[in-house]
Amino acid sequence: MRTFVLLGLVCLAAPAFAAGESKVAVNVPAVNVAPPSAAARALLEPKLKIRDAPPGTAPRVALTFDACMGQADSRILSTLVYERIPATLFVTARWLRNNEEAIAILRAHPDLFDIENHGENHVPAVDVPVKIYGIPAAGSIAAVEREVAAGAAAVKAAGFSQPRWFRGATAKYDVSAIRQIRQMGYKIAGYSLNGDGGSLLGAAMTERKISGAKDGDVVIAHINQPTHEAGAGVVRGIMALKHKGIAFVRLSEVDGVGDAGTTQ
Ligand SMILES: [Zn+2]
Repeated sequence: MRTFVLLGLVCLAAPAFAAGESKVAVNVPAVNVAPPSAAARALLEPKLKIRDAPPGTAPRVALTFDACMGQADSRILSTLVYERIPATLFVTARWLRNNEEAIAILRAHPDLFDIENHGENHVPAVDVPVKIYGIPAAGSIAAVEREVAAGAAAVKAAGFSQPRWFRGATAKYDVSAIRQIRQMGYKIAGYSLNGDGGSLLGAAMTERKISGAKDGDVVIAHINQPTHEAGAGVVRGIMALKHKGIAFVRLSEVDGVGDAGTTQ
């Protein structure tokens, strides 16, 4: 029964996806063509990988954590510090306002943590008015610019370096927003392995996903949900990778290669 339902969903989804793709691929002049409606605008969820480790060296994985809003997950943060595991954190202005204690820990370990831009208010960086997972997108070019610029300003005001990477809320974008954010000077951080399913997975599933990371993977997980089970799985997954001999790297240390024009 379950298989049957799943197959039905796949069949329903496939034509819709193909139709959305073709809108991006067809390169018609903007003049004389009506702009795509908000509903028809294709959203991309870009991938990011890091280059393979040089021969004879340990496999490399980049751990990235989003701090969207709310609190800090001290289970994860203290593990990273205690085990000396480097990571890249994407933080919003909203999260920075409420987590002074965690920020002090991040500031005290510049050798471990890169702090990058997750936007000002955690609104998706999409320049048409759509909702993604129920979250209203920025909705205009000006609002995308504000989300990115004010997010970066908050990172700097908190005492960290000028961000080089941006990851928008929900990690989805439209093509024009990707171009705009690149023109503002940022690379866009996709990912290759979704570690915690938006912090909604159980601990065992999260552990299994993260511990399966391979050389070149960019893992995304959340560090702002201290009450969710997923965080316990994040810790166990990271420790499993460490015991396998994985070398952890930050995005500033390696070549990140993204698709859809997000890094090149
Ligand atoms: Zn987020």
